[in-house]
Formats: sequence, structure tokens, C-alpha cells
Amino acid sequence: MLGENIKKLNEEYDIFIQKGLLKKFIDSKKNEFCQIITIKDKKNKIKLKELPVLFSIQIGKDTNLKNIIKNIQRILKKCNKKKLDIGIKYKEKKIIGELIDDNIQESKIEIIKCLKAVFIKEKSKKIEYIYDQVCEELDEEFAKNNYCDFKDDICIGKRNCSERVTMGCCHKFKHPITMNGELKECPYLVDRHCSTQCITCKLFTCDAIKVKFKLKNIPLIECFFNPIQKLIVKTNFFTKREKIIDRLVLFSI
Ligand code: SF4
Ligand code: SF4
Repeated sequence: MLGENIKKLNEEYDIFIQKGLLKKFIDSKKNEFCQIITIKDKKNKIKLKELPVLFSIQIGKDTNLKNIIKNIQRILKKCNKKKLDIGIKYKEKKIIGELIDDNIQESKIEIIKCLKAVFIKEKSKKIEYIYDQVCEELDEEFAKNNYCDFKDDICIGKRNCSERVTMGCCHKFKHPITMNGELKECPYLVDRHCSTQCITCKLFTCDAIKVKFKLKNIPLIECFFNPIQKLIVKTNFFTKREKIIDRLVLFSI
């Protein structure tokens, strides 16, 4: 019964995603005491007791996800300082609380992705997770909608060019800084495919495509990246995944 109502956050933690289950679970744990901290998008003053901490994350129609994530991070910091346990034992893992969200399924998926990021301790691993997750979403979005509509290696954006231009916009200037010289195929283009995962390229759509990707509409980026990291994501065209991740790690606070 619990299977569909519980989500894995990582190898250590799970979370209930149905109202009432957390209460039932705690009631069944007769000799285990804990404290439940309610998380809303307003900053609430909390007094932590010397007990394991569980979260009740409550999402409404107009809830600001960024504030929710910030509040959880703030409380987790306090818990770490006080050396309080997070979650209570459930089978081989721990339950960290519940996510109460009456919104559409899609928003729940976004919140779970953000929660997964919250509970990744190592900074570089967290950034890698966010980076790969966003790239995967963008790949799926492009594939599902066939935005570039390649035919015989020519995309919709280059279809009406006087010369035959293949491989879409995977071309860079010989002198990229001054944007001068002839255009050459990007060195990461191998066998007609991108051999790296350049998030900046993935976020780009030319004038032939109406859809534009804005960082503020991508919860993982909006909630976890600072302005410098956002600038890195916006400007690092033709760049290897590992290089961009190194830069993001360097500028994380
Ligand atoms: S973004 Fe535009 S130019 Fe680039 S591959 Fe897609 S259709 Fe072609
Ligand atoms: S890095 Fe960018 S320009 Fe180069 S192959 Fe990949 S998507 Fe194309």
C-alpha cells in the first residue's frame, strides 16, 4: 500500500507523499519520539527540541518553491549545528516526513527533484545532480516536441539558407571572442551528435523556435543557483560538461 505513497530521495531517506500517512506511521512507533516541523513558504520561527526532526512540507496553489527550499535548508543547518537526527527509521531507511501537495502531479515531481538536491551533502555532487537533471529534462523536451525538426541533417532554422547548412547551430566562429572568421563545426560534434552535455547550448533556441527557456522557470536552477552560477549557465556555449560543472562548483557559496 505504501509503495505509491512514498518517494525515494536518496539511499538514506524516503518521504511520504500522501496526507495522513506520516501521522499513522508515527502513531505506530510507540516508543520513538520526534518533532514535526511544518514547512510553508513563509519563514516561521522554530524552536528545536532535542529530538529527531521530521518535516511536514505543505505546498499550496501559490506556494513559492524557492522559499520552501530555503526554509528547509535553513532548518537543516540548525539541525546539523545541534547534531539532531533527521528522520526516523523505516525498514532499512529513514522517513524524513511528508509532502502535502494538492497541486498537479507535475509540480510534485519538480518538488521531489528539488528535495533530492537538498539532501545531497557534497557540493560538487549536488551541482552535478542539478546539471544532469536539467539537461535530461531539456533533452526530453526537445525530443518530445521535435523543436528543431531535422530533415537530412538540416534543421528548421537553417532550412531556408541560401547555402546548405547542416548540423543546426553546432558551429562556432574561428575567433569566438571577436565572433570573427569562418564558422566551423563545434569540436564536440561527433558522429552528428553532441559528445558532451553543454547545458548552455541545450537552453538555446533560435528565432525559428517560439519556445524560449528561462532559468527562472527551471526550479532546480532557480532554487539552487546564485546569480553568478546562472550567468555561467547562460553564457558557456560550446563548452564541455565537466568544465561548466567545475565553474559552477567554483562559484557556489
Ligand atoms: S535551435 Fe534553431 S538553429 Fe539550432 S538546431 Fe534548433 S532549429 Fe537549428
Ligand atoms: S557543445 Fe553545443 S555546439 Fe558543440 S556539439 Fe554540443 S550542442 Fe553542439
